[in-house]
Amino acid sequence: MKITAIEITHHRLPLDPPFNASWDTRPRTHFDATIVRVKTDEGIEGIASGDTMTGFAGHEPMFVGQDPLAIERHYRILSNIQFHYGRCWPLDLALWDLAGKIAGQPVWKLLGGLSDRVRAYASSGTLRAPAALADAAEAYLAQGFKALKIRFHRGDWRADVAALEAVRARVGDRLELMVDCNQGWRMSWDAYAPWSLKDALQVAREMERIGVYWMEEPLFRADRDGMRRLREMVDVRIAGGEMTREIYEFRDLIRDGCLDVVQPDAALVGGISGLRRVAAMAEAANLVFTPHTWTNGMGVVANAHLTCGLADAPFMEFPFDPPEWSLDRRDFPMRAPLTIDADGFVVLSDRPGMGYELDEDRLAATRIG
Ligand SMILES: [Mg+2]
Repeated sequence: MKITAIEITHHRLPLDPPFNASWDTRPRTHFDATIVRVKTDEGIEGIASGDTMTGFAGHEPMFVGQDPLAIERHYRILSNIQFHYGRCWPLDLALWDLAGKIAGQPVWKLLGGLSDRVRAYASSGTLRAPAALADAAEAYLAQGFKALKIRFHRGDWRADVAALEAVRARVGDRLELMVDCNQGWRMSWDAYAPWSLKDALQVAREMERIGVYWMEEPLFRADRDGMRRLREMVDVRIAGGEMTREIYEFRDLIRDGCLDVVQPDAALVGGISGLRRVAAMAEAANLVFTPHTWTNGMGVVANAHLTCGLADAPFMEFPFDPPEWSLDRRDFPMRAPLTIDADGFVVLSDRPGMGYELDEDRLAATRIG
């Protein structure tokens, strides 16, 4: 079998009302998705999404004519493209979708078949007043979630702690609570400084008191010494690595004792081919590996296959914060949204590949390139 073409299309879903992501100072008035299709001479097609494929144009001939199952070869080429141009990891995800379709097996089985399910945590994306956040937490519980991640981005961490306390007071121990501090990176247009170690330490002590499961991105991504010291000073787990680009950076973060929870996203970093290496490193160091998944539903599905297949994670991120971040928005390229079951698990099917299908009508209606 040979790859005959790689087709890339761009789509834009208008967001009205806009989505105010807590980590972004600009209201989001649209949500873009890029669809990657790998075509073959036998008519089987691999599909994926989750990043913009910026920098891929002109590199198609490196893949056309190749055996689609030479995934390690393709991974090395994509790593080179990332170094010289941009992140094009949805192509790796599309190749895994294709490999599953060729084998007649779901990707999670090709990766090791550890489980077909992982418990989801609801990953909120907005900042709400304490009472409204507590109401939202109850709604998550009613929908089956057993864990919730809330955002610390109100400008004054005491206000963030007040919101966290309101949730804990309302739900008690019925929800595990995670906190995302989002100090690891900034949007292109945001120039404000990240927290210092002493800033993060004050917040971490409050999280210990309230019983938070993990504290995510408490420091700038390069502050490895700060992460290591913070991890030693408090009991709360330290999570990070969602936008860390290189596999060797994960090697160093793990070797230096910076993290308890390792969180790369297969759509943004390394694809499945790269991140299964990181998952193995995390397992060898007795750390939790659980991907960041905040792209679109196809990216969530790809990360779910990776997590279920080989990672044995306690929870996986499930971006969901209705009404601002609904499944209809998050999963707009897909014919059916990814949901959780009554016990709060993402359950993957036995369909070959990733198991998702495109909503071609909606993709046609939202196409911008
Ligand atoms: Mg995060």
